[in-house]
Amino acid sequence: MAPPQGSRAPLEFGGPLGAAALMLLLPVTMFHLLLVARSGPARLLGPPPYLPGLEELWSPWALLLCLTWLGLQAALYLLPAHKVAEGQELKDKSRLRYPINGFQALVLTALLVGLGVSAGLPLSALPEMLLPLAFAATLIAFIFSLLLYLKALLAPASALAPGGNSGNLIYDFFLGRELNPRICSFDFKYFCELRPGLIGWVLINLALLIQEAELRGSPSLAMWLVNGFQLLYVGDALWYEEAVLTTMDIIHDGFGFMLAFGDLAWVPFTYSLQAQFLLYHPQPLGWPLASFICLINAVGYYIFRGANSQKNTFRKNPSDPRVADLETISTATGRRLLVSGWWGMVRHPNYLGDLIMALAWSLPCGVFHLLPYFYFLYFTAMLVHREDRDERQCRQKYGLAWHEYCRRVPYRIVPYVY
Ligand code: NDP
Repeated sequence: MAPPQGSRAPLEFGGPLGAAALMLLLPVTMFHLLLVARSGPARLLGPPPYLPGLEELWSPWALLLCLTWLGLQAALYLLPAHKVAEGQELKDKSRLRYPINGFQALVLTALLVGLGVSAGLPLSALPEMLLPLAFAATLIAFIFSLLLYLKALLAPASALAPGGNSGNLIYDFFLGRELNPRICSFDFKYFCELRPGLIGWVLINLALLIQEAELRGSPSLAMWLVNGFQLLYVGDALWYEEAVLTTMDIIHDGFGFMLAFGDLAWVPFTYSLQAQFLLYHPQPLGWPLASFICLINAVGYYIFRGANSQKNTFRKNPSDPRVADLETISTATGRRLLVSGWWGMVRHPNYLGDLIMALAWSLPCGVFHLLPYFYFLYFTAMLVHREDRDERQCRQKYGLAWHEYCRRVPYRIVPYVY
């Protein structure tokens, strides 16, 4: 059993108080968005149209549906994978193995949903259940995080995350104590990261599109764009699933409430906000503007994919011909930093691409409401904060070499701006 650590890592997110506030604020914001999206004025900054009672939030059927969904995704995760990838080296010099079958899970889910719909599954009833489903997902996230915290108390010190073992219960519960909680080969964090939430998000979007078709005869162009863009994003994440193994969530953050709630509740119920908004507030959109928005999304995707693939290829094999010619800086750890290509433009080119796409997802909703831009605004704040966290970790890891990188590549996310 690991002794309480009192880790030396500086506390993030405002320490225990900030963590407690976020644990309250995030679910409240999610319910606010769900309520406001279906209200007439759809005001992001106004009060919610009403406060739902427990009878509107709690439904055993919604809980059963969420658990069935998690069970289905877990079963798909356990299916044989065409490839098993190794993660980054851990503190004890070992490497974990991960099944690469996320895209297969997406395709099989699509087939099962298609079969279900043709057999009469009322998918268009899903939008009416979003409140109780979000409530059930929040309950699951809280209980799951508690179990993860208890499991982490039994984990050896070498299995703990660098930041989530401060010794403060609230902070560690929020940030996640254990880095890679597993039962046998089932990796909870890796499973939750890209599957139930991301696939759930596009399923909710699809249900909203079908309901719009039932209400208005056909889905609107704006709804098609939002569905298409976000399906591309989710499909891409699962197609390049292996790339998640070099991201902060997997290599640095423990698995606690922050990621459990984020993956299982926040992503599916708030990232589908634009489609929710469009169902209740149809927006006219012509082909010329739609084409321009598609172009913005394509530019964002090009930068996002190019940057993420370049770093992932380089981290897997620096001699790979696709990255071997790029200029690098050596560090005392033996790892090198890219200083040309995408990573020579700004220090987080992947965030830039992601933000451009976030803007393209909101634009089909018009410019008369702030609500559909919530994702863009929240994501900007989140990525600025995330970039700052990453910089701090890199400065600690790479010391002088990181300072040299910052000197050579002075901008963080947006060239000549930030
Ligand atoms: P990154 O994939 O950017 O990973 C950061 C790590 O990359 C650093 O810690 C460092 O790790 C390595 N690195 C940094 N600079 C260099 C360099 N010059 N050369 C080589 N390696 C470098 O971070 P994230 O995990 O935050 O993001 C991954 C993707 O996921 C991004 O596209 C992001 O936009 C997206 N994302 C999306 C979210 C959403 O909700 N939609 C939420 C969070 C992220 P090391 O040196 O140890 O390899």
